[in-house]
Amino acid sequence: MSQIPRFIRNVIKELNLPSVTILPPNPFVTSFYHADYKDEGPTIHVRRCAIDPRKLALHEIGHHFFETYIGTIIPRATVRRLFGNMSEEMPSGLFAGISRFLPGDIEGYITMYAQTHPEEDFAEIFAEVMNEGEPLDYEDDIINEKIEFVWECIQKARG
Ligand SMILES: [Zn+2]
Repeated sequence: MSQIPRFIRNVIKELNLPSVTILPPNPFVTSFYHADYKDEGPTIHVRRCAIDPRKLALHEIGHHFFETYIGTIIPRATVRRLFGNMSEEMPSGLFAGISRFLPGDIEGYITMYAQTHPEEDFAEIFAEVMNEGEPLDYEDDIINEKIEFVWECIQKARG
């Protein structure tokens, strides 16, 4: 658990992102990890999780990456074309919670959770490429296009 905040800080530095506050989650929020952009500035909440804490942390950094670079190194038009309308309401509830841990089964989406919202789709692709360290090739052209795009944005952020 203690390595996760350090891991998050290293990735944030590597991608030239503004620093985040890392906090344990609000006990009334059911998710293991979440990112917040309220009054206090960017915050990532983490809780010990048996599945893959690094990948979940990367997902939350993906939201921070998106918030930071949308409209600059992340072109809005490409986001709209590949991921859809980001101003849709964010997912909540049991399906969103459970689907986070299921593999994807619908064309164009890398995970079940990615289907819940365009921003989650972006964060899931981001977590995948950052976790792999390279843009892997899938048997799905839409996923590959999303991966290529997010990878390019990541490379630009690294400078
Ligand atoms: Zn998310």
